Amino acid sequence: MGLEEKAPGFMLGTIGDLVGLARKTSMWPVTMGLACCAIEMMATGGARFDISRFGMEVFRASPRHADLMIVSGRLSQKMAPVVRQVYDQMSEPKWVISMGACASSGGMFNNYAVVQGCDHVVPVDIYLPGCPPRPEMLLHAILELHKQVGKEPLGANRVEIARAAEAAALMA
Ligand code: SF4
Repeated sequence: MGLEEKAPGFMLGTIGDLVGLARKTSMWPVTMGLACCAIEMMATGGARFDISRFGMEVFRASPRHADLMIVSGRLSQKMAPVVRQVYDQMSEPKWVISMGACASSGGMFNNYAVVQGCDHVVPVDIYLPGCPPRPEMLLHAILELHKQVGKEPLGANRVEIARAAEAAALMA
């Protein structure tokens, strides 16, 4: 349903809508720069692109303080267990953006040393194409994720939601 503004200063909605609003407007990313895409991710945090407009200016060094992982860059086989461990240490609910061609598919690194898509290691909510994607593209991906987060029902099992979305996509 979503929060509806009925009059200036008066909104109507459910507790779930309010929780969704709080979650999407205070999302803190964990530091997860893996390669060149990370430079664009860092630029997104700077004054020019100003990610703090969306309540997420603090990149957390501790996964326990973070609920968003932006996998920015190619993921080597050696880093894969570390990325999974960091993901496991983040508190629920948590989300993942796969930033760039390498993170999403291995990109140009079709070889034994690079994981051919970080979704082999962590569940991905948004795939962002590009080599590298510009900060505006990352901001767009974040806003798309915010839309998803705002609609997630309270106490939802995210695995079940993902399965339902996959089933709906197959039926379409
Ligand atoms: Fe680097 Fe391009 Fe791969 Fe990003 S997608 S990590 S910019 S090679």
